Amino acid sequence: PTDLNALADKYLKLSYNGLRAKDKNFNANFITELDPDLPMCEVVPQDIGRVLLNLINNAFYAVNEKAKSGIAGPDYNPTIKVSTSYSPLSGGRAGSVKISVSDNGSGVPDSNKEKIFQPFFTTKPTGQGTGLGLSLSYDIVKAHGGELKVESKEGEGSEFMILLPL
Ligand code: ADP
Ligand code: MG
Repeated sequence: PTDLNALADKYLKLSYNGLRAKDKNFNANFITELDPDLPMCEVVPQDIGRVLLNLINNAFYAVNEKAKSGIAGPDYNPTIKVSTSYSPLSGGRAGSVKISVSDNGSGVPDSNKEKIFQPFFTTKPTGQGTGLGLSLSYDIVKAHGGELKVESKEGEGSEFMILLPL
């Protein structure tokens, strides 16, 4: 049984510190909205942690891209949010928890939404992306009986959702 709120918090900090160490000039707001009533969840913590790290690193990259591209303008406020929520069992449906990683970064164009979960698909320059993060994350979440979903609008941002059954 794992406290996913603590896990989410830990990996957000880990990712942030790692990225800051690489690029001292870059900054972004990072926000958590953690459901205090989230039940403990039976997961492999290192594996779900790896998924969180992938999603958070992608989110930081996406806001950085947008900040550098100039499309965002001087008032752009790069923000990454990690939130958790709990849907209790109802009407015979099992309960579930959701961990979502949102950003107001570059977004995923509609034409790429299917492709991003495929191994080796990347839009990053050579050396900056392997294209394996989302594919691996998808497999890990599936192995937990869950789902990994995305909602995104090009130029506005993305939300990646990890849905886990209880
Ligand atoms: P990589 O990060 O090595 O490119 P991933 O599998 O993690 O590989 O992601 C694949 C692609 O999905 C990225 O190259 C990018 O085009 C897109 N992507 C993933 N996360 C985001 C995000 N938060 N915002 C915009 N695009 C994203
Ligand atoms: Mg990645």
